[in-house]
Amino acid sequence: MNFDAVVIGGGIVGCTAAFYLARRGQKVAVVEQDKLACGTSSKSFAWINGTSKTADEDYHRLNALGLTGYAELAAEFGEKALGLNPAGSLQIVRRGDDTNIKTVRDKLDQLQAYGYPSGWVDNHALRALEPHLSLPDDAEGLFAMGDMNLDAPKFVHFMAEQVRTLGGTVMEGCAARSLEARDDGQVTGLLTDAGTMNTETILVAAGPGTPEVLSALTGYDGFAARFPMRKVPGLLVRSPDTSPHQLVRRVVYFAGGPELHILPDFNGGLKIGADDTDGMVEPDSSLDDVKRVAAILLARAQERLPGFAGPECVDDCTFTIGVRPYPADGHSLAGPLPGAPGLFVIATHSGITLSPELGRLMADLIATGRTPDTLQPFTLSRIEGLG
Ligand SMILES: Cc1cc2nc3c(=O)[nH]c(=O)nc-3n(C[C@H](O)[C@H](O)[C@H](O)COP(=O)(O)OP(=O)(O)OC[C@H]3O[C@@H](n4cnc5c(N)ncnc54)[C@H](O)[C@@H]3O)c2cc1C
Repeated sequence: MNFDAVVIGGGIVGCTAAFYLARRGQKVAVVEQDKLACGTSSKSFAWINGTSKTADEDYHRLNALGLTGYAELAAEFGEKALGLNPAGSLQIVRRGDDTNIKTVRDKLDQLQAYGYPSGWVDNHALRALEPHLSLPDDAEGLFAMGDMNLDAPKFVHFMAEQVRTLGGTVMEGCAARSLEARDDGQVTGLLTDAGTMNTETILVAAGPGTPEVLSALTGYDGFAARFPMRKVPGLLVRSPDTSPHQLVRRVVYFAGGPELHILPDFNGGLKIGADDTDGMVEPDSSLDDVKRVAAILLARAQERLPGFAGPECVDDCTFTIGVRPYPADGHSLAGPLPGAPGLFVIATHSGITLSPELGRLMADLIATGRTPDTLQPFTLSRIEGLG
């Protein structure tokens, strides 16, 4: 089996990068050890945004380009096929809440200075945008009209299908095991459960498994310990279908009061999370423990949405505890692995937002051998002593 490039990992990052590689005429294969989208990509809030990333301009712009990438894909394939809800996002805050209103207003100023599509909405407009929310009379908000949310598993399968249509190969139940390389270190092949794949280019897109995969491939145990990535778990609760009502229409964050973020799930229900409840569960928490934390989230959601069943629907909800691949400085790690010619990596949080842009940039880099300017700040060369 000969390939121009083999991608390890059938999550959103791997499948989208494979799509852009195939589009550039590369003969590409994706190897996924389990099922497509079985990892973090199916356990994500999946808010596509640059709104929450204002601190660093390069990183904000990379995320904003992610939105552009989705808009281009939507123009070509249609929102429905991709699983996109392009309804924007709201951050709701009370006028009387001095601390939080300043934070949200400052954020809007920064977003507008970057040219990001965003504006301020008054109480009247908020009520029109989200009629099911219980809103105090002094509630106002930041509306980021270009933001979206994604049915990420659907999108991953769509990308994989496009890869196949473009002549590529997608293999599930096929783990990558180790590398074959020449004496000078240049990659020549990948040993997998399905045999050896001959290739001079391997892209590791293994999400939270990236450090362990790099150790296994290279035989250097140090990657598992030294690769600068934290694994940060996060709980999401998915309620049953709330038909005939669509209780929220877009991503909604509440600044002030109990933490809560909520969006319209593609099953007709709600997807609910909060930053402070993330730390209360681990991927191996018992179902009873998860339900206890889920009931907190459901109660908070009911407080905001009087028409919602709240904790009484906990037994009809589903729960995911995903593991965020969180690079130490919070920004994507994407580019060649120093000292290992032919081996490339993308490891990133916000991978739902970023996958179209990082995938496109990585395909440019692999096809041309030149690092695009936009990618430069995010390459692995910024990590001391990695190669
Ligand atoms: C609770 C939560 C909320 C989030 N919210 C957002 C958000 O709102 N917006 C946003 O943009 N991002 C968000 N993220 C982050 C985002 O979901 C991740 O950045 C993204 O899903 C990572 O995708 P990935 O393809 O890199 O990893 P994954 O989806 O984990 O895919 C990696 C794949 O590699 C496979 N693999 C591993 N080892 C091997 C091997 N040896 N051989 C073959 N296959 C292998 C795995 O089985 C897995 O399928 C959130 C994450 C969490 C957990």
